[in-house]
Amino acid sequence: MASMTLRGTGTPCDGRVVDIGASYFTVSDPGFAAVVDALQDAGVVRPWTTGFHVAGPEGLAGIKSGAWRYAAPGGLRSVVEALAAPLPDVRLDTEVKRVEAADDRVLVDGQPAGAAALCLPHPQARRLTSRFDFAGPVWEPVMAVTCVFAESSWPEIDGVFVNDDPVLTWIADDGSRRGDQAPVLVAHVHPVLSARHLGDPQSVIPAAIATIQRVLDIRDYPQWVEAKRWAFAKPLGAEPAEYWMDEEAPIGLAGDAFAGGPRIEAAWLSGHQLGAALATRLGA
Ligand SMILES: Cc1cc2nc3c(=O)[nH]c(=O)nc-3n(C[C@H](O)[C@H](O)[C@H](O)COP(=O)(O)OP(=O)(O)OC[C@H]3O[C@@H](n4cnc5c(N)ncnc54)[C@H](O)[C@@H]3O)c2cc1C
Repeated sequence: MASMTLRGTGTPCDGRVVDIGASYFTVSDPGFAAVVDALQDAGVVRPWTTGFHVAGPEGLAGIKSGAWRYAAPGGLRSVVEALAAPLPDVRLDTEVKRVEAADDRVLVDGQPAGAAALCLPHPQARRLTSRFDFAGPVWEPVMAVTCVFAESSWPEIDGVFVNDDPVLTWIADDGSRRGDQAPVLVAHVHPVLSARHLGDPQSVIPAAIATIQRVLDIRDYPQWVEAKRWAFAKPLGAEPAEYWMDEEAPIGLAGDAFAGGPRIEAAWLSGHQLGAALATRLGA
């Protein structure tokens, strides 16, 4: 649920937030629906659309309807910030280097903690602790290419599923998503091509722009472009289990590789259930 504030683009879009990770989320679980209702009442999220275009080799080919997709006017990161706001001590931009357990005590970077809920992809969790030593799923990479144009010269779209294409799988209109109609697109690069460019994400930009131009039938070049690498974007074969918890110490792992993933709703369910299980274990 990553959002980026545009800076140094040399365009009027500087200072604007763009979603460069998940594009939207859907809701089916009643518990998650209650959380989303409250977020909607607070103006943090809004229903975005029920229909996305599909594109094939010939370009746009109609709209596919589905469930409501939700977006956040302030970027999806603002959802996490809103949910964390009532907590007494939240430290952002703080890298945790080590999570250890001695008997039933947990140490986070050497500091005692009541419990540790690691809510991140398995490979990142494994770097933090030896308590968690099973392999977990294979993770697909994705590059997200953000393009800021001078103006929107493309057809009216919310997002486009790009089918049977070796370069892109998806294009989101971030102006539609955010509701300000800014001329910003975010394209997701095919996982196979992403894997080839992991060492140099920006090298994927020319192919991504050419594919955006073909799919949306535009000639314009963006005024500013940046590619962001997500090495662990999508777990293949998420577990039905909702979380993992250490048998001895109150350390758990949650995320969208659990609860049937790989979606924001699964990550919420997983983290919520792990939190409840840790609270029960601590007798809270
Ligand atoms: C390109 C892309 C597109 C997606 N599209 C969709 C979509 O359209 N709909 C949908 O429902 N889902 C989508 N997803 C999936 C969605 O983003 C995930 O389900 C969700 O973000 C998982 O949440 P999480 O909290 O488990 O993990 P993450 O969102 O990965 O959060 C983990 C956090 O831990 C932090 N972290 C890692 N290591 C450390 C450390 N050592 N110290 C401190 N912090 C650390 C990271 O910086 C990160 O902020 C997409 C994902 C990607 C990458």
